Amino acid sequence: MRLWEKYALKLNCPAVDKNLMVDTLIIGGGLAGISTLYFLNNPNCFLVEARKVGEGVTLATTGKLTFLQEDILYKLLAKDYTLAKTYLASQKRAIALIKKIIQKEKIDCDLDKSSSYLLAKNIKEVEKLAQVAQFLELNQIKTSYINYHKYYGIKVNGTYVFNPLKFLNALARKLKGQIFENTKIINVKKTTQGYECLTAAGFIITCEKIIFTCHYPFFLKPMFLPLNTTIEKSYIVVTKEKRNEHYNYITLAKPTFSFRYYEDGNRVYGIYLSSSHNTAIKHNEHKNLAQVISHFKLNSHNIVASWTNVDIITGDHLPYIGEINPQMYLATGFNTWGMTNSVLSGEIICDLIKGNANPYAAIFKTTRIKKYQRFYQSIGTNLLAFMSALKKNKKWYGSEIYFENKDGQRIGVYVAQDGSKHKVHAICPHLKCPLIFNQVDKTWDCPCHSSRFSIDGQVLKGPSKYDIAIKKD
Ligand SMILES: Cc1cc2nc3c(=O)[nH]c(=O)nc-3n(C[C@H](O)[C@H](O)[C@H](O)COP(=O)(O)OP(=O)(O)OC[C@H]3O[C@@H](n4cnc5c(N)ncnc54)[C@H](O)[C@@H]3O)c2cc1C
Repeated sequence: MRLWEKYALKLNCPAVDKNLMVDTLIIGGGLAGISTLYFLNNPNCFLVEARKVGEGVTLATTGKLTFLQEDILYKLLAKDYTLAKTYLASQKRAIALIKKIIQKEKIDCDLDKSSSYLLAKNIKEVEKLAQVAQFLELNQIKTSYINYHKYYGIKVNGTYVFNPLKFLNALARKLKGQIFENTKIINVKKTTQGYECLTAAGFIITCEKIIFTCHYPFFLKPMFLPLNTTIEKSYIVVTKEKRNEHYNYITLAKPTFSFRYYEDGNRVYGIYLSSSHNTAIKHNEHKNLAQVISHFKLNSHNIVASWTNVDIITGDHLPYIGEINPQMYLATGFNTWGMTNSVLSGEIICDLIKGNANPYAAIFKTTRIKKYQRFYQSIGTNLLAFMSALKKNKKWYGSEIYFENKDGQRIGVYVAQDGSKHKVHAICPHLKCPLIFNQVDKTWDCPCHSSRFSIDGQVLKGPSKYDIAIKKD
C-alpha cells in the first residue's frame, strides 16, 4: 500500500472507442502529461492514459519540491558553472510555477514550506557541500550550516513538500473533457501530415503533434533510452509521527537517505527513503526494505505503508525534454526529481510548440548527447541485469517463487499465501530481459528497463506494451 493511493483520483474518463483526429496527442497521464495538457490550454489537445490517471510513478513518489537534489548541483558545477546555474534556475522556476498554479486554481494539496537539508558524512563530502553552499550563495540563495545527528549539512529555505496526487487530481479534474483513460497506445506511425497512433483496442488517433510523457516511452528512435539511461529503484517507508517539524533532507552521496514530513490536516507522517540502487545490480527487495527500517531505527508499530519505486537516470543528470523527431516531443529521464521537472517540462514543451523562447529548453534538449555516449556502459548494465536475473532461483527466492521451463520458455510461478499458483512468462516482451520478482510489491519487474507486471501478468508499467499472462488452453 502506497501513501498516496488513498488520494488516487476516480476520474472515470472514457476510453477511446472510435478513430479520432486531434491536433495534439499526449501519451501518459502522470504529472508530466497532465502538466503539459494544462500548459498547452488547447481544446483540440487530448491525453490518453493506458490505465488510470496518476497511477504511474507519480503515485509512488516522495513529493518534495526542492533544488537540493543529492549531488546533482555539485556534479553539474564540476562540469560547467553556467549549466549548474541554469539548472538551479530551472528548478526554482518549477517551484514558483507549482505555487502559482496552486494559487490560481485554488488547489488544496497540503503545500507545506519545508526547509531542505543536504547532508554529508565525511570530510570529502563536506568539501563538496561547501562548494554547493558557495554556489548557492553566489546565486542569492541564503545557506546556513547545520549539524544533524551524525551528519554535517547545509540548510536552505524556499523549498516545499506537497501531496502530489491532490495536485495532479485538481488539474486532471479541470481538464477531464480532454482525457481518455484505459487507452494504451501500442504503435505510432509517421504520416505526411503527422502521426497515426494505434490503441490496444484497435482504434487510430491521427494527430499533427505527439508528446510522449509515458515515463519510459517507446517511439520512433529505437534504443534511445535503453542505450542512454539506467533505472534506479528506491525503498520507501511511511510512519506516523507526532508533529511536523517542517524540514526535509537528503544525503549528498550514496547511499541515499531521504526524509520528509507529510501533514494532511489530521495526521502527520514521516516519509523515509533509502537503499536506492541500479536495478541491474542489486536485488533482494525484502532485504533492501529492511535496511531502510533498520537505518532509520523505525518502530514497526508506527509503519503505515511501504513500497518501492523506480525512475530513469540519465548520464548527465539532466532530463530529456524537447523535440525528438519533427513534431514529436518527449519528457522523461527525471533522475528522481520529476515533480519539479514534470511541471517544468509542461511549460518547456508548450513554449517549443508555440514558438516561444524558453531559457531552460537548451540544457534539456534531447539531441544534446553524443550518439550512444553511454553505449558500452548500458550494454554492460543490461548484461549484468540479464545474468543476475537468470541466476535467481528457488533457493534465492524461498518458497514464494520458482521457475519452470515449458517448451523452452521461462515460466515464473508465484505461490500466494493461500497456496494458489500464479504463472507468467518471466521474460519482458520489450527487449526480452528475464524478469525478477519484487517481493515487496509482489510484481514481476524488468531489471533492465523498468517494466512491471502483476502476478497474473498484466502490464502495470511500460515500456512493455504487452502482458506476460499465460493464455489458458
Ligand atoms: C523513489 C522515488 C522518489 C521520488 N521522489 C521525488 C521527489 O521527492 N521530488 C521530485 O521532484 N521527484 C521525485 N521522484 C521522481 C518523480 O516521482 C517521477 O520522476 C515522476 O513522478 C514521473 O512522472 P511521469 O509523469 O513522467 O511518469 P508517470 O507518473 O509514470 O506517468 C506516466 C503515465 O504514462 C502511462 N503510460 C505508459 N505507457 C503508456 C502507453 N503506451 N499509452 C498510454 N499511456 C501510457 C502510464 O500508465 C503512466 O500513468 C521520485 C522518484 C522515485 C523513484
